[in-house]
Amino acid sequence: MANGTGNKSVVLSDIRKSYGNLEVIHGIDLTIEEGDFVVFVGPSGCGKSTLLRMIAGLEEVTEGEIAIKGRDVTDLDPSERGIAMVFQSYALYPHMSVGENLGFGLKMARTDPADIERRVAQVSAILKIDPLLDRRPGQLSGGQRQRVAIGRAIVRKPDVFLFDEPLSNLDAELRVSMRIEIARLHRELGNTMIYVTHDQTEAMTLADQIVVLRDGRIEQTGSPREVYEDPANMFVAGFIGSPR
Ligand code: ADP
Ligand code: MG
Repeated sequence: MANGTGNKSVVLSDIRKSYGNLEVIHGIDLTIEEGDFVVFVGPSGCGKSTLLRMIAGLEEVTEGEIAIKGRDVTDLDPSERGIAMVFQSYALYPHMSVGENLGFGLKMARTDPADIERRVAQVSAILKIDPLLDRRPGQLSGGQRQRVAIGRAIVRKPDVFLFDEPLSNLDAELRVSMRIEIARLHRELGNTMIYVTHDQTEAMTLADQIVVLRDGRIEQTGSPREVYEDPANMFVAGFIGSPR
């Protein structure tokens, strides 16, 4: 809500997910305001990635509805949802240069080549990867690769960014500097960001709103301060309070 405009960005209504007979997401209701940085946090296996992938359209919902900017997107393809996702593994195209990686999504969308060049130049300047445009992903460090992956998401100007543990493959020092960079990006771009992590420090430092998950249910939603100072139960207190 710190940055929220009051408009609804992503609304989840009674979302459920089953794999075979096993339900792993048990009826989640959540409203995310436009411009907010929302962090899904919780232990491994609690359903963070599944939830994010359903918002992205990479995973079908078993029950419930997802709306983005007031539009029911439950049955739409990922490309029709106005979202872009950054994963833990960089998933760059190894045979393309950095510049080609950045422009690829726009090229697929038949964007005018001059526009592609302009957007790629803008985005690479923002992320300070402009000196790397002619390199291949194999010639980059982990942090540089993750920057390119983030750039590839930004370049399409999505309404909503989805991040699934984007920093967990990086060493501790780089994680801190990338975290600061992501916070800066959010201030500059002002988009809605939904960020999944199992790391409480990342959650506490990045979030406007924290969503604490356990076993496919929301335990608590609130600002970092609310969740820290007034945890809903012992689980939240233990999870947010204890360093790991
Ligand atoms: P998290 O990202 O919080 O670690 P996940 O969303 O990956 O958790 O997983 C939530 C639950 O769903 C886990 O119990 C996991 O084993 C299960 N799960 C995830 N993907 C599949 C799948 N493709 N088939 C069966 N079970 C799955
Ligand atoms: Mg996960």
